[in-house]
Parts: sequence; structure tokens; C-alpha cells
Amino acid sequence: MSDRHIIRRVRGIDTSDGAGVKLKRVIGQPELDMLDPFLLLDEFRSDQAGDYIAGFPEHPHRGFETVTYMLAGHMQHRDNHGNHGDLGPGSVQWMTAGRGILHSEMPQQENGLMWGFQLWVNLPAKDKMTAPRYQDIAPQRIPVVRPAAGVEVKLIAGTLAGATGPVEGIATAPLYLDIGLQPGAALTLDLPDGRNGFAYVFEGESALVGGEKLERGELGVLSEGSQLQLAGGEQPVRLLVVAGRPLEEPVVRYGPFVMNTSAEIHDAIADFRAGRF
Ligand code: MN
Repeated sequence: MSDRHIIRRVRGIDTSDGAGVKLKRVIGQPELDMLDPFLLLDEFRSDQAGDYIAGFPEHPHRGFETVTYMLAGHMQHRDNHGNHGDLGPGSVQWMTAGRGILHSEMPQQENGLMWGFQLWVNLPAKDKMTAPRYQDIAPQRIPVVRPAAGVEVKLIAGTLAGATGPVEGIATAPLYLDIGLQPGAALTLDLPDGRNGFAYVFEGESALVGGEKLERGELGVLSEGSQLQLAGGEQPVRLLVVAGRPLEEPVVRYGPFVMNTSAEIHDAIADFRAGRF
């Protein structure tokens, strides 16, 4: 067994997307363009309606997956294939856009806290034009695992301590964990070789990740290895630990289209304009 450690630290940059939703872009920005297979990580958190109320009106996606994890607030999802759903606190939507969808993601609240994450996960070339697929996961379907004293893990994808998260059939074999650590708590996480991973502290002050302090709002890119040592700080802390199998394929991205070649991007634009999504 070899321990993983932090090889790079990144803080999100303030930006806005959709019709003017303020957010922090942690992956998919100049400091960290991508971490194969992860193309983007946004954290949105505000209790000011003006920061989120405009939402994400109809927009397309092709060639990858969007994963929305809500911590607080409600977002309604609706697409051009007749799918719709309400994403409430603690719920996850793993959307495989595949060959293309047009959808909107709109706040279903006019005040109060809206907080969550959106992660973009790339699809291998052979799956980029697959049929769109949704996994809408209510909070009660997400196992809460307590592998050690003072440790509480929401297991969204992957396996931990004999439990398996509800997200299924994803090409990059992802691990997606929301880990709560009390002061003094410690955990050794199996994080198999051959996967890229990161940790991102989103609540509390700091955690020890691979023996080093990682502060709230910092993403730590993890080295190779087969396990990760985590420990709490002086206050209760929560962090995401996410890992996945890198695709090691060419990436050509143009806004909401992520393909392998420029020609495929041109096709995506043409198909979108022709109403073929
Ligand atoms: Mn979207």
C-alpha cells in the first residue's frame, strides 16, 4: 500500500455562468484546466437571491456527464426529451449527456441558501454519442457509512467499507464521497491505483489530507498511490474526495461540448443549430 499526498493546491476563482449565477470555479480555470477525467468543478453558495435567481436557462451539452450535488436549496431540472425533476438538499443528479440534450437548471426558491456543486466528468470516445441517461438520486438512497469514530461518509459513487453508492454504470469508475470528520477523527481510505483524485474542503476550517493541512476552499490534487490518510482539524470539517479513471484521450472543448477532435465540435455545433439535440 502506498499513501497518496497533495501534489498541487488550487483555490476556485469567482466567476458567473448561466444567466448570471455567481459561483467558484475550482476545476476548469487557468490554474487547473482539467484533472482527467474531470473537466470542471463549480461550487455555488449564496444566500443572496440575486446571486442565483437567474439560474441556468436552456443550454446544450454533448460528450460528457454533469453531476449536481445539492447541499442546500432546490433546483429544478427540465430537458427537451421530457425529463424533469426537483433537486433538493442532499440529492444528486448524475446526467450522462451523451450525444446531446438541451436542458435548464433553475432555482425553485426566491430566497434562502443555495449551495452545491457541479462536476463535469468526461466520457470515453466510444461513449460520447451514447443516448442521454439520468440518475436522479434522492438523499435517502445515499448510504451513510461510519467507518471510524467521528467519521461520517455519504457514499454517492464507488465503494467503501462494504457499501456501494447508488450511482451505477459510469465509464470512469468514479468514487464520490462527502466526508465529515470530527476533531480527532481519522480515516484511511482505499483509493485504488490508476485513478486521478482530489480533495476539496467545503465546510469547517481545515482537514489533514495525506498528512498536510488543506483549508476550506482549497482543492488538493492527489498523487498516485493506493490509499489516502484523512484526519479532522480543530473544528468539524467536511470535504469531498473524488476520484476516477483517467481517459487519456484528446480533449477538444467548446463551451458545453467536449469531444475528441475539432471536427466533432463542428458537428456538435451544426447538430445543435439544426435542432438535432
Ligand atoms: Mn447544464
